[in-house]
Amino acid sequence: MKYKFVAMGECMVEMAPTADGTYVMGFAGDTLNTAWYARKLFPESWTVSYLTTVGTDGVSNSMVQFIEAAGLDTGIIGRRDDKTVGLYVIQLSNGERSFAYWRSDSAAKTLASDADDFQAKLDGAKVVYFSGITLAILAEPDRVTFLEGIAKARAAGSTIVLDPNLRLRLWSNVDEMREVITKASQHSDIILPSYEDEVTFFNDGSQEETARRYGGAGAGLVVVKNGPGDVVCLRDGVLSSYSSIPVENVLDTTAAGDSFNAGFLAAYLDDGDLKKAVDAGNRLACRVIGQRGALVDVLEPA
Ligand code: ADP
Repeated sequence: MKYKFVAMGECMVEMAPTADGTYVMGFAGDTLNTAWYARKLFPESWTVSYLTTVGTDGVSNSMVQFIEAAGLDTGIIGRRDDKTVGLYVIQLSNGERSFAYWRSDSAAKTLASDADDFQAKLDGAKVVYFSGITLAILAEPDRVTFLEGIAKARAAGSTIVLDPNLRLRLWSNVDEMREVITKASQHSDIILPSYEDEVTFFNDGSQEETARRYGGAGAGLVVVKNGPGDVVCLRDGVLSSYSSIPVENVLDTTAAGDSFNAGFLAAYLDDGDLKKAVDAGNRLACRVIGQRGALVDVLEPA
């Protein structure tokens, strides 16, 4: 029997500048990045599906083809003919990257609009993965549908995994962000926060505090990443800490956390060995930040 990993969220068109002043089009997004790496690392006994909604236009078709070409299952990608996909443009100024987004009316915002359809797409998933960005893009009534959907999936046996990925500009205000993320954490089994975000918006005094806050909400496992710092884990009330791998040449930290999550989950779901899983997450993230771009070839030797 095939196990099913379902990642949910928004994939966007990325326009990245090239040396000659033109732009090259790609596709990326936090949960898509994790699914992309998961497909490379999970055994063939797993189907890795991406759950989103796109348009019916040519760019939407290209996006779905891109996702499919990565080996991901596209069978639960919704389509609608009145909307299209979101887009962002990367601007380079003195080597610093900044981003401009066009996503306020993207099709992905409706990924959970139809409760029955959404529920059916989660049916039989062994693991359901989403992020704070997935929640941020949904309208308020759809967030309710979304959380009811994952609660039902959890009751039916799915393991629910959340990366809070706190991005204030996607929310109306900080209180709304904190409230929705906290609610979502109560429906989650594994939570994979980045300490820098958590200290900024939840005022945690330490990684342990972040881990205990999410653990207190009901997650059996919390893994608190911290850039080059230690990874602090809380599993069933037991705290542990693992050092990261020093990286001399950090070229681009885009997707550091997303790739860590894929590496971690691939190993953890295999045998539940926490240290081995953190090592696997660190190893993948190190490779990713040593190269430019969110999606890099990770199967070649370093
Ligand atoms: P995010 O990109 O989600 O903010 P973090 O900055 O917490 O994520 O980093 C995620 C993971 O990426 C870390 O746990 C670590 O494995 C790796 N990482 C990020 N920055 C560095 C760094 N400077 N040196 C070594 N590892 C890093």
